[in-house]
Amino acid sequence: MNQIHANIQVSLSHMPLIFDSHSDYGCWTYYEDQMRLAPSLTEHAQRVQAGGIGMEVLVIGGQSVLDEVDFRTRDTVLTAMQSVRMALSDPCLGYTQVLNRQDLARLPEPGRVGWTFGFEGAAPITSLDDLWKYHEVGLRVLSLTHAGDNDIACGRDREPGLGGGLTAFGRELVKALDDLPIVIDLAHLTDRGVMDTLELINRPVIISHTGARAVCDRPRNIPDDIIRSVAARGGVIGIFAVGYYLHDGEGAATAEAWLRHIEHVVELVGPEHVGLGTDFTDYMSEIFDRWHIPHLKPTVAGVPDCSHTKVFLEMLAGRGYDKHVIGDMAWKNFARVYDASLPRD
Ligand SMILES: [Zn+2]
Repeated sequence: MNQIHANIQVSLSHMPLIFDSHSDYGCWTYYEDQMRLAPSLTEHAQRVQAGGIGMEVLVIGGQSVLDEVDFRTRDTVLTAMQSVRMALSDPCLGYTQVLNRQDLARLPEPGRVGWTFGFEGAAPITSLDDLWKYHEVGLRVLSLTHAGDNDIACGRDREPGLGGGLTAFGRELVKALDDLPIVIDLAHLTDRGVMDTLELINRPVIISHTGARAVCDRPRNIPDDIIRSVAARGGVIGIFAVGYYLHDGEGAATAEAWLRHIEHVVELVGPEHVGLGTDFTDYMSEIFDRWHIPHLKPTVAGVPDCSHTKVFLEMLAGRGYDKHVIGDMAWKNFARVYDASLPRD
């Protein structure tokens, strides 16, 4: 941390904006509304801009259950999507929804933050027809699983090697997805599930938020062969800022530990396959205590929430990366895969 922070004086003359490929704040916006909590969206939007984020993939739905708000069910998901879209349309917030390639091409734009809907886990999808229905209401990023198993595939948050791959329905769904203008996200999926999926599809995928298992040996992180396989398809791997998965110890990880994950992927497959998927959950602190998962709260030292995300850029600059390479890792790599996956207009 100290050495890197000393080097942070090497500032970028034009700081590129950051494409953050994973934020749970979509779920949280609806949860606050349903639980009649004081809305924090205005503050969040300010933090996002302060952090240098120019695109935020907001997860809503999927496999999360926040108290009585069950994002696995169709009615909740559809109501939540409408509610979140309306909340984000307040022009004072500076958000702009990205639904197609043209929307994406207008970004990054200083003072504006692009956003789009993702599902974390495909639990609300019970038939292939559902895919198009959710697409119609704005779903643009789909991960197949969350932490556990569902009707589509097995989640990787278990001992490595124990998880299965895609189910029969999962295989049908992935084949259908290959023709759909939706970004395919393999975060949380088991190794076998990733390989099953790559066999069935013909376009680049992302792993929106993960760490490298060679650096920190937790089942949630991905091994080198998965990194290579995703990169071989032109895909991008987003490194998260969740301390528990970045180092073996307790508490916040150091910036060096964060950087080790990024550099491991860079050394293995090149910087064109690396991005950032922060997965900050500071706003869910009380829920993590109640769920008995307080170990997942610490982030990276000095990077407690999204308002500090630009430390990522300073860290890379301090390490001596070329500004074009930093721009690729900050924005262009994810934008490339999104451009290949989103509808034309
Ligand atoms: Zn996740």
